[in-house]
Amino acid sequence: MNSVTKWPFLILIGISVMFWYGNMVYEGSEWIRLTFLNTIQLIIGIVSTFWILRLLRSLSTSLKLFWLFLSMGTGLSFIGTLVWIINLTITKQAFEAPPLSYFLWALCYICYFIALLYRLRRASIQFANMTYFFNTMIYMIAAISISYYYLLYPLYRIEEHSLGKITYTVIFQIADLGILFFIITLFYLIQFNKKNKSLNYLIIGLFLQILGDMLFAQMMISENYQSGKVVDFVWTIALLFIGCSAYFYKDESKLTIEPRTAFFPTLKKEFLFPYLSILVLSILMMESYDWSLNALSFGWIMIFLLIIVRQGITTSKNNRLVLKLNEIAYTDMLTKLGNRAAFFKETQYAMDMSQQDFTFILLQVERVKMFNDVFGHQTGEKLIKEVSNRLKHTIDMNVKLYRFSEDEFMIVTPHKSIADILLLNESIFNVLQPTFKTSDFELNIIGHIGITHYPKQSISLEKVQQHTAEALYQAKQYGNYSFVIYNNEIESNLLRKLEMESHLKNAINNNQLSVYYQPKIDLTSGCLVGMEALLRWEHPKFGWISPAEFIPLAEETGLINEIGEWVLYTAAQHNKQLQRIGFKPLLVSVNVSALQFQNPHFCSMVGEVLAKTKLDPEWLELEITESIVQNIKESFNIMQQIKSMGIKISIDDFGTGYSSLNVLEQLPIDTLKIDKSFIDRVSYNNPSPMVKTIIELALNLELNVVAEGIETVEQKEILYRNGCMIGQGYLFSRPVDYYTFVDFLTSYAQSNVTSS
Ligand code: C2E
Ligand code: CA
Ligand code: CA
Repeated sequence: MNSVTKWPFLILIGISVMFWYGNMVYEGSEWIRLTFLNTIQLIIGIVSTFWILRLLRSLSTSLKLFWLFLSMGTGLSFIGTLVWIINLTITKQAFEAPPLSYFLWALCYICYFIALLYRLRRASIQFANMTYFFNTMIYMIAAISISYYYLLYPLYRIEEHSLGKITYTVIFQIADLGILFFIITLFYLIQFNKKNKSLNYLIIGLFLQILGDMLFAQMMISENYQSGKVVDFVWTIALLFIGCSAYFYKDESKLTIEPRTAFFPTLKKEFLFPYLSILVLSILMMESYDWSLNALSFGWIMIFLLIIVRQGITTSKNNRLVLKLNEIAYTDMLTKLGNRAAFFKETQYAMDMSQQDFTFILLQVERVKMFNDVFGHQTGEKLIKEVSNRLKHTIDMNVKLYRFSEDEFMIVTPHKSIADILLLNESIFNVLQPTFKTSDFELNIIGHIGITHYPKQSISLEKVQQHTAEALYQAKQYGNYSFVIYNNEIESNLLRKLEMESHLKNAINNNQLSVYYQPKIDLTSGCLVGMEALLRWEHPKFGWISPAEFIPLAEETGLINEIGEWVLYTAAQHNKQLQRIGFKPLLVSVNVSALQFQNPHFCSMVGEVLAKTKLDPEWLELEITESIVQNIKESFNIMQQIKSMGIKISIDDFGTGYSSLNVLEQLPIDTLKIDKSFIDRVSYNNPSPMVKTIIELALNLELNVVAEGIETVEQKEILYRNGCMIGQGYLFSRPVDYYTFVDFLTSYAQSNVTSS
């Protein structure tokens, strides 16, 4: 026995010994004996109330009310006892409890009643089941008949008893029946679950309380009730058990998700109470007729027994069928895991029945749909099965695994610390990493994870579903095998994103978009040789939004085509206008997203823009990213077409992808643009070998090379010394709007500022 269970057990022994001792030693002096025994009851009442209050303080969620009413019940119970003790010590002869005590105890019952009502309401999802209802009703009818016949009816007939006491006894009987009804129902709902210690103690405690009341009423009728004997002992133990239900509450740290089959109890348990009560009722009925059986009543009993047997057989058959159906409805046939429906049902049940906190981990296996399309559904299914098997072997016993959707698994664990989550994620990703072999291919299994906690971050299952999905979505932005734990920031980010997404459509029409220009400078002469067009969005609510934030959004929603065309048109028109004003022609570079590039109408759209703006293609450059280049076959044709139109092509953010030299040689490009991250690292002490190599490579391939993000004179000089001819960055100018750019050009043309 561990130290947790030791205490209540010791107290139980203590109570027994004290009762025995008190009754032995103070046999002669009635008021001392009663004071002594009542004090024991008082102490137990205080201890139980203390346990419940202590639990109440540590709880944060919905079952608080239940424990509050329970503690009020035990509180009223011991105050009632206290009143009696005070009365005893004053009068030294009040051997019966005073009316005030009875009154307080009656209130105590009402509190128990309310507590149970609340608890039941919380667990009532399954109460709708008719079988439970009928069984409970049968049992209740038996209980009411018996208590009416043996307790209430005789009580009414005893006239010598004080009316008050009879009334109390009747009230207790009625309250008892109500409580009995609730605990029987609770019993059916929890199926006397071994894991749910707390509720078991509560049911036993209340049952003992009712037993005590019945004994009390019986003894009152037969006039041999004596305070401080068996009945009071039973009541004291009942109080202890009720307290224990709070005491053992914390012990339920394990996951108490019911197995799917447990929703449908086995025949034996289900029929124990109702049939037993019918049997008892029949025996008592016979007894009340002094067992004068005749052929008719004997036949009635036989038929009744036969009906029970037949009912038993059909029900057990039905139960088996229901079990099977249940299994089909709640099992994913491929992986034999619980499916989405099982997840909702079981988790909701676990949430309702216990106070536990949970951690939810949603794992998505990437590209399953693609594998299905490319290799056929069988391959996709085999892959999922493989993943499920690997997962089953990694997670431990008290963790639940569900197939949540075609490519998602939901893992439910008792609440975990960040450190434990890290470990679990690592082990999940580790088992995913080995490749999955088909007859022809070895496929990489890539996964992402979104996590949330209940009830801290997500207060309901609906929120759990939503938040794990949002975290998962976020995790995907961080690359393969990454995970994100949900936080409020994600929600506000997502809300912002959704809001932006809905406004982006109208951004062009509402004139919220504009194109800024950042000059490109010839590092030798200091002359302005070109500019990069950079998109800007002034949102009425969020202010200036960076293209780094909304371009990906535009790509996701497909708006990038429309927006990209608008940028190209605006930039070309502005450039043409500069030429018309009389400035020396400049090269304008426009960023093009990979999605635009894949659009079959891309080339014709560019052609149309040039025709409309009348800009000579010579003065237009498209900046594309390395990722486009890597998709070489398709890109090559498009690049060739663009090239043939006389437009220049530049590779943006060069060095961040992994283009091979071989690829670079083949492509019809004009410029390499060294990514800012490399320029950042350049200083006199560290003339970055990577930058040197890129410059050398570009020069060997006879390509222009542009350094972007130059912020210091030092960076500019080192780049120049290494052969980079064109620079762009805050050192020269930030991106500015068209009119500022015109001013800038004017002053540039006049002073021809150079710092070389
Ligand atoms: P990018 O093409 O690499 O553009 C360079 C980014 O670096 C710009 O940010 C620019 O303002 C910033 N920058 C330039 N010089 C410096 C410097 O010296 N220091 C620092 N810290 N930053 C500097 P911006 O304008 O926020 O654009 C971000 C990204 O958004 C661009 O990166 C580009 O990928 C994308 N983007 C911008 N406009 C468009 C567009 O019209 N179409 C498409 N598809 N993408 C665009
Ligand atoms: Ca760019
Ligand atoms: Ca760039």
